[in-house]
Amino acid sequence: MMKNLIECLIGYQFSYDLYSRTFDEYHKEKVKMLFRKLYDNGYIYEKIEPQTYCENCGKFLSDREIVLTCPECGAETKGDQCDNCLHVPTNEELKEGNCIDCGLKVSEKDNKVLYLALSKFQKQIEEHTEKVKSNWRINAQNETLKYLKQGLLDRAVTRDLNWGVDIPVSGYEDKRMYVWIDAVLGYLTDTMKLCENRTDCTWEDFWKEGHNNKIYMCHGKDNIMFHSIILNALLLGQEENYHLVDTIVSAEYLNFNDQKFSKSKGVGMTALEALDMYDSDSLRYHLLANGPEKKDTNFTIQDFENTHNGEILNKFGNLVNRTLRFKELEEIPNGKLDDEIKKNIEETYSKVGNLIEKLEFREAIKTIMDLVELGNKFYDENKPWIAKKEDINSFNNTIYTCAVVIANLSNLFESVMPTACKKIREYMKIESPEWNFISIKPGLKLENIQPLFSRIDKK
Ligand SMILES: [Zn+2]
Ligand SMILES: [Zn+2]
Repeated sequence: MMKNLIECLIGYQFSYDLYSRTFDEYHKEKVKMLFRKLYDNGYIYEKIEPQTYCENCGKFLSDREIVLTCPECGAETKGDQCDNCLHVPTNEELKEGNCIDCGLKVSEKDNKVLYLALSKFQKQIEEHTEKVKSNWRINAQNETLKYLKQGLLDRAVTRDLNWGVDIPVSGYEDKRMYVWIDAVLGYLTDTMKLCENRTDCTWEDFWKEGHNNKIYMCHGKDNIMFHSIILNALLLGQEENYHLVDTIVSAEYLNFNDQKFSKSKGVGMTALEALDMYDSDSLRYHLLANGPEKKDTNFTIQDFENTHNGEILNKFGNLVNRTLRFKELEEIPNGKLDDEIKKNIEETYSKVGNLIEKLEFREAIKTIMDLVELGNKFYDENKPWIAKKEDINSFNNTIYTCAVVIANLSNLFESVMPTACKKIREYMKIESPEWNFISIKPGLKLENIQPLFSRIDKK
């Protein structure tokens, strides 16, 4: 699993600073410290409550350790959720279940449980959410406001298990933390771990107030409240001037041929399998241009191949190809940049920059693609293949202008198609990407220029 994830990150050209997991010892130690602080500050309290228990096995049973006949559909199911109809059994229904290990009917016994006083953070989280929510994804706004409107409920943080993070409170030696509490604190503990080995930053730069920092959380729509509410409560409860989460980037779901991706049911493919067949630039482009930003979206091979052949290759690849690989052209000619096109390039930077800030990646890509189309239209209208023989000034202006468009596309598309953009920079001797209009020198030698993309042959 870990090897796969790292291969994915590298294969899809993500940069990352640290890869770590929650059973890392460093993480566990830091989480215990943070948990203890919440306890000492009075945000974690003890409650005695009856819980499902197996007399035969002598242990408390989690919902998953109970089997019962689903009252909704009649299937045999585990107590956390029915695999067949997704019904979540109520506490009353669970009392009718049996122990998963020995089959005995469950009973009840008083148990000690620690609770997180989430309700105490209601007002602070409400105020913070109001302040920052304007550019969250709409699903994050709705989901968070739904919980806040209902009123935050205190939540059990300990359970009777023998794996997971220990509870740093005496009398709780045989219990462990719920995964949700230590998982979200992983963002913090990983930053601590990362910064221990670096001299250019401290973890406080990222997590404390007054460091000009911004915290983005990227995840699926099923994890919203853990990031917008729980994590912020855990940070507030430290009472140490933590910076709360600024932006929730919560995706809707991506489906495959209108079904959920599922390895076990053989629906779709894994991210690594896709990389075996297609290049990562095109996959990144397609997934971003059609990403599930505001509603679930559907991935099909047909759509992907249409994007690759139709947009990436026929539009972007073609503009680069027919400009930089113009027959017998050895260098960028000394032409004049078209004023309208220059204005359009400059506007594209500001439009796309704003869209990315607003997390509207689909629209950002569409806007860059408009510039590609404008370049192609300019090329077609000025017919350089005729002008080459009849009007060399017009030819020079057209090729030069299109070359400047391409140079700027290598900046604009950098976060979407990094490999192609790097190739353009090599061809055009551009040192590194930057977010503003760039010009190029006439006379630039065009050597060994290859097509950026190749056609996918449809079977
Ligand atoms: Zn069911
Ligand atoms: Zn039992």
